[in-house]
Amino acid sequence: MGGFNDVTDYIKELYNTSEFIPLHVPRFRGNEKKYLENCIDTTFVSSVGAYVDLFETKMAEVTNTKKAVAVVNGTAGIQVALRLAGVVSGDEVITQALTFVATANAIAYNNAHPVFVDVDRDTMGLSPKAVSLFLEAHGELRDDGCYNTLTGRKISACLPMHTFGFPVHLDELISVCKRWRITLIEDAAESLGSTYKGQPTGSFGKLGVFSFNGNKIATSGGGGVIVSSNIALAEKGKYLTTTAKRPHSYEYYHDELGYNYRMPNINAALACAQLEQLDRFLLEKRELAKLYDTFFKSRDIRFRTELPETQANYWLMCVELADKAERDAFLKQTNEQGVMTRPIWQLMFRLPMFAHCQRDNQKNAIFLEERIVNIPSSVR
Ligand SMILES: *Cc1c(COP(=O)(O)O)cnc(C)c1O
Repeated sequence: MGGFNDVTDYIKELYNTSEFIPLHVPRFRGNEKKYLENCIDTTFVSSVGAYVDLFETKMAEVTNTKKAVAVVNGTAGIQVALRLAGVVSGDEVITQALTFVATANAIAYNNAHPVFVDVDRDTMGLSPKAVSLFLEAHGELRDDGCYNTLTGRKISACLPMHTFGFPVHLDELISVCKRWRITLIEDAAESLGSTYKGQPTGSFGKLGVFSFNGNKIATSGGGGVIVSSNIALAEKGKYLTTTAKRPHSYEYYHDELGYNYRMPNINAALACAQLEQLDRFLLEKRELAKLYDTFFKSRDIRFRTELPETQANYWLMCVELADKAERDAFLKQTNEQGVMTRPIWQLMFRLPMFAHCQRDNQKNAIFLEERIVNIPSSVR
């Protein structure tokens, strides 16, 4: 075995350290402390406050949408976005099996059923071709939408995920969803700052959802946001995530089953400070990606780069190894040598709670599952 000593040496050189290198850590080099202190000084640490409003305004701007709703985390955001899109108990939602578990969980929280359709090899996200093939085999258009002829259930939404910040083939996916009258919702949890033909991811679906968890490109500690250009829908989102309380100066009246999914002001303060640095994070990640690309080319290992007409945020960078044996050797050696690397997620249908879900052949998802490895990607 030639091994990957040169890889670990190079990554240690990039980060200028001989100590353990984590996969992704946040950087707080802006107004974080100042804004957090302001929350404490004003006592506005909880679920209302100026930073929540500011964060929502900024997120609508950054994503080129009309309204943003700050929520307690990305998973809750997806759960509510699906409900807003009309997904009800017993419906089906088309998504990819190659994703973080939150995507599928959010579907299940609505008592809906995930249907796993294959990804494309180039984007690592939901494949429009595979969705089209699936629907040609199992879809039936009725007066009120698309039904699955195998299960008799309504297919009410399609939930692609922009893996590691690489946008899926959106134009093609939008056209398949239109043809079959299925609502598109984007799990843009990983793709803040990524664009497709110049437009931010998260702005293409009826609703889009971002995560501000500690491991994402920008963090609020924990948090998420729902964005939409349908203002009425976004307002309904704010209302549902605020216990569905009818506005009144002193009466408590709730006319639907709502949630307490609000983002506390203290988290929004952190998020605001991080958003101020987003452009810099994006630039620095792009620079790091360029260095990795050059290095791995010389090493004959495929480093994943953005596709034409897209900009990736390079949130988590990754390489594609030749096969599973090579992947395992890479993982073992880099981790033993203090450079954290991690395989892509195990496919959702391998998890007990989603093992029974309908799926297609998953050829590309399985190919990528065996080969993709994330490498340290923090802003330096
Ligand atoms: C991080 C993530 C989420 C959920 O975000 P949380 O804020 O951690 O709840 C959802 N989907 C994907 C693909 C993610 O990576």
